Amino acid sequence: MALADLTDPQAVLAAAREFDQRGREGFLDKYGFRPARGFFVLIDGKQYDAKALAGVAHLHQHGTLLTRDMFSGGDSTVARRLEHLGFEVTKPNRLPDWTTDELMLALDLYLRTRERISYSASTQIVTDLSAELRALRIFGDETRADPRFRNPAGVALKLHNLSSIDPSHTGEGMGHGGSGDARVWQDWAHRPDELAVAVALIRERGTGDHALVDTGEEDEYEAPEGRVLYRQHRRYERDRTLVARKKAAVRKSTGRLACEVCGRDSAEVYGVEGVIDVHHIVPLHKVGQSVTALEDLALVCPTCHRVLHQHRPVLTPTELRLSMQHRH
Ligand SMILES: [Zn+2]
Ligand SMILES: [Zn+2]
Repeated sequence: MALADLTDPQAVLAAAREFDQRGREGFLDKYGFRPARGFFVLIDGKQYDAKALAGVAHLHQHGTLLTRDMFSGGDSTVARRLEHLGFEVTKPNRLPDWTTDELMLALDLYLRTRERISYSASTQIVTDLSAELRALRIFGDETRADPRFRNPAGVALKLHNLSSIDPSHTGEGMGHGGSGDARVWQDWAHRPDELAVAVALIRERGTGDHALVDTGEEDEYEAPEGRVLYRQHRRYERDRTLVARKKAAVRKSTGRLACEVCGRDSAEVYGVEGVIDVHHIVPLHKVGQSVTALEDLALVCPTCHRVLHQHRPVLTPTELRLSMQHRH
């Protein structure tokens, strides 16, 4: 008995019906298959793990199951067989890595529940977080429509990863892990209250129309506060009325437009006036909803501005200036 004996499309459809009845997890579990990493069969807009579907279809046609280890020739052989029977087979794109914002939501949940919960794909708070992440408009609609995208199993796995780097859980100090998980842990785990405020803002802003409009800036991927809040922060900073008011106020009081960090003034260095950014000093999650005051803004040159946004821990322009003096 082999894959080549699977010749009846009706048997594949019968297997798909069984998949629907049992649910994906139940179906894979019952027949001993792992979730597909490669190919999926598309039937009526739904996705079915190709290998498992073929194995069970064989059962429907011939009365014997093709088990996981009875497939030789790998995933693409299964895909070709099913295509031959008239089915559409896809190999979905790799899912995008978790962004800082998404990790912040997971970390916030983890810190609030780690004492009392073991996380699995059927835990209520895990399915809730999965639904929330799928609703956030950090990624486009197409990515979010993929059933695997931030599904409960993936969310549960992420929470387990967090527990494996949690020093209070493992009893080990945490190394300087380069991964996103470790980075977000280092940035936020020691200030859970601030994290909770930031997470509430991400939830609130992350589903609005603005959330999808990315800045086109490479920096937003690295922003310690995540992409949603970074995008919002940069929108504020580019508000033309606010920028004009800030520049006018500084020009009036100092007679020039110099960077508050490095002291350079584009008029003096390049002979071009006003090449300078407005930077919002207070992180968005600390401002709350209040209206921006001119004192919350600093004039900084584009280079210092990028450094401010990338620096960890986050520094104010004054702190960055002092740290620069220290280096000389
Ligand atoms: Zn500067
Ligand atoms: Zn800024």
